[in-house]
Amino acid sequence: MAARILVVDDIPANVRLLEAKLMAEYFEVITASDGQSALDIAEKEMPDIILLDVMMPGMDGYEVCSLLKSNPKMRHIPVVMVTALSEVSDRVRGLEVGADDFLTKPLNDVALFARVRSLVRLKMMTDELRVRQEASSRFGSIGSHELDDEDEIANAHILLAESNDLTASKIINFLTELDHKVDHARESRTVIDLGQENSYDLFIVALDLGGEDGLRLCSQLRAHEETRHVPILLVLEEENLSQLAKGLDIGVTDYLVKPIDPNELRARCKTQIKRRRYHDRLTDMLKKSVALAYTDPLTGVFNRRYMNAHLDRAIMEIAETAKPVSTLMLDIDHFKKVNDTFGHASGDEVLKVLAKRVTDAIRDFDMLARYGGEEFVVVMPSATTEQAFAVAERLRARVADTPIGIPGSAEPLTITISVGVATTSDPMEIADSLLDRADTALYEAKALGRNCVCVEHSGSKNAGHTLGIQ
Ligand code: GH3
Ligand code: MG
Ligand code: MG
Repeated sequence: MAARILVVDDIPANVRLLEAKLMAEYFEVITASDGQSALDIAEKEMPDIILLDVMMPGMDGYEVCSLLKSNPKMRHIPVVMVTALSEVSDRVRGLEVGADDFLTKPLNDVALFARVRSLVRLKMMTDELRVRQEASSRFGSIGSHELDDEDEIANAHILLAESNDLTASKIINFLTELDHKVDHARESRTVIDLGQENSYDLFIVALDLGGEDGLRLCSQLRAHEETRHVPILLVLEEENLSQLAKGLDIGVTDYLVKPIDPNELRARCKTQIKRRRYHDRLTDMLKKSVALAYTDPLTGVFNRRYMNAHLDRAIMEIAETAKPVSTLMLDIDHFKKVNDTFGHASGDEVLKVLAKRVTDAIRDFDMLARYGGEEFVVVMPSATTEQAFAVAERLRARVADTPIGIPGSAEPLTITISVGVATTSDPMEIADSLLDRADTALYEAKALGRNCVCVEHSGSKNAGHTLGIQ
């Protein structure tokens, strides 16, 4: 795992020592010997991780860290505070200014590499999501401001796996006071089950689960789809620290050493919950940006571009299936009047309800797409003209017979649609030409007085309830 690490320390011997250790493991190392140059180098080089000495003359590590974390460009770079002091209060202070972890001098190699690797892995995942998000916001689909607010960390849903009831109740009381919701499980089975049923922000897992192995549980949590991305805080005794490296390898995201200091617990939970919510938000945005590429945001049905590609494919498949492909072009009658009389919001509601009604009425393998303002297309593979006509007529009647409730009017509103039907059996025909023919049929339906279905070239129509395919 190649990663670039910025080592910051005012004592040259410390820098050299860390540099040698990290380079021996093939990390790329850059260095800085005071706070200001650390900030400058970080901004210019964008390292994957920063190992930051706390005690430095002038600007100390806490200040550097808090400046890094308040800079939107750099706040996602993990910072590990390196301190000679092992006092809990110093750790807490580091975590409070946004540090992602701390290491105590003299450095223990296992803790150093396990921590660095775990943070690098996490950083790479978040980087990838950020790149995708930035790409989609360049197309104007999603504002990048959605990324910024990282501070909402209240009301987290936490699952505590701890077999010792006394320890558990202390942790629960403390977290509940911070407005978190905590579920408690005493054995692995319950944790796995609850993890499948709920969406947790954090798991806190005791290494010793009353005879069960907490690490085995962690690895099971990582194996299940539903719990794979939930951070895990491992709680262990000082004398079991040797198991930490294995835990981090399995995917434990952070750890706490007993006896648990409430402030440290608070700070570590905060970091993990932040990270979880940040990850969720990015994933959400990613899904949204993918969905935006092929759906219409108002109605949720497919958009024109996607439907066109789909229709082209469906037509080509005629070569193999030897079955025709039909299309319906639907247009709301006098829709402009709906907007003019009841307002644009009412018009939008009509579009949404219509899209839903059509979706419910067509087969699973038919596709509904919004073609333009109040025009929709239904693509029907393996459907003859007669079958397509029957569906169109059913849709027309259903829409006309069931008025729609709208915000602009106390009375539900009756709307009608006109439909043009066109069919092809030629695998070489292009989508646009088939759609043109459906559009011509739609135009005829409008000319014939609306609220009717017309089939291309047949001159047939169905106004109200008179049917005709000739
Ligand atoms: P016709 O029976 O001939 O189809 O008449 P029409 O009024 O339905 O057709 P026209 O094409 O004249 O008007 C379509 C209207 O649809 C005009 C436009 O403001 C409205 N429209 C298009 N997109 C939207 C939308 O997303 N929301 C709302 N509320 N109205 C829309
Ligand atoms: Mg219309
Ligand atoms: Mg129109």
